[in-house]
Amino acid sequence: MGAYLEVESAVYKTLLESTRAIPWKIDWAAARFAYIGPQIEGLLGWSQASWATVQDWVDRIHPDDRERVVQFCIAQSQAGVDHEADYRALTCEGDYVWIRDVVHVVRNEEGAVDSLVGFMFDISERKRAEERMLQLQGELTELSFRDGLTGVANRRRLDAFLDAEWAVACRERKPLSLVLADIDCFKQYNDHYGHLAGDACLRRVAGLLDTAAVRGLELLGRFGGEEFLMVLPGTDAAGALERATLCLARLAEADIPHGASAVAGTLTASFGVATLLPGPGDDLLALLETVDRCLYRAKQQGRNQVVASQSPLPSHA
Ligand code: GH3
Ligand code: MG
Ligand code: MG
Repeated sequence: MGAYLEVESAVYKTLLESTRAIPWKIDWAAARFAYIGPQIEGLLGWSQASWATVQDWVDRIHPDDRERVVQFCIAQSQAGVDHEADYRALTCEGDYVWIRDVVHVVRNEEGAVDSLVGFMFDISERKRAEERMLQLQGELTELSFRDGLTGVANRRRLDAFLDAEWAVACRERKPLSLVLADIDCFKQYNDHYGHLAGDACLRRVAGLLDTAAVRGLELLGRFGGEEFLMVLPGTDAAGALERATLCLARLAEADIPHGASAVAGTLTASFGVATLLPGPGDDLLALLETVDRCLYRAKQQGRNQVVASQSPLPSHA
């Protein structure tokens, strides 16, 4: 029987030490390793013999993971609950490897914790895949909010930003201003220079207008074909008019040739400006309609100009 047990335990030992999972055992009372598989050396570089106390394990956990993991594992072990923890373990070369430690609590006949046995798994590949996935997700989200041609915010992002800023304006009783720009005679630009040149021109104008918006707080987005909307939270009517005038000037400075324009020899745009300090009964759609009407007037009055809403602030403001 003794010989049989010896053979059996030799089989277990061989099995344990030939898997990729690294087995270990900790004597709970002594807080010492009773055993750790030799594979640990291949993974982290530290020799099997260097894993003597629980402190050796603690010291080799990444400082940012240490407190969380140690406290969690001690609490679970004390409570006699099997558990698992992911953390970065230090290699002898000073790098870190992501590890999942799966822990089983062994109790003695009185029910007290006798020892912990477990397996360490190398999960660095999985973590890398997870991180890559998160990064890709972030990039995808970013892309889903950008206009493919010009790189500025797309209509979806504009709408979300508008809704959010409208809510802030209502709550904090702050004005919200809109500047709607529409390139003049752009159909002729395409007809004259070709559609690809038209695309390049749209990119140029978008970049130009975008630099006039304060990043993060304000947003410039492509509203439609050759129309761009600038959302200016917290900006009053005078500030918004100033901003639109600045855009008009930047466009003039850019001096983009437009040989087929009915307005000038260079590319121009018309701007509508509207401001509202939202009160009860106001809605965002009305503000958008106002800015659209102003743009229409700018077109009617000869293009290459800014028209601001005549009554930017309602009586209840
Ligand atoms: P107005 O001065 O009244 O604004 O005249 P317009 O010619 O600029 O306006 P209209 O609405 O008649 O024509 C807009 C043109 O914009 C027509 C359309 O082909 C062009 N356009 C819209 N989107 C794109 C695009 O992505 N690329 C290019 N190249 N052209 C576009
Ligand atoms: Mg248009
Ligand atoms: Mg146009």
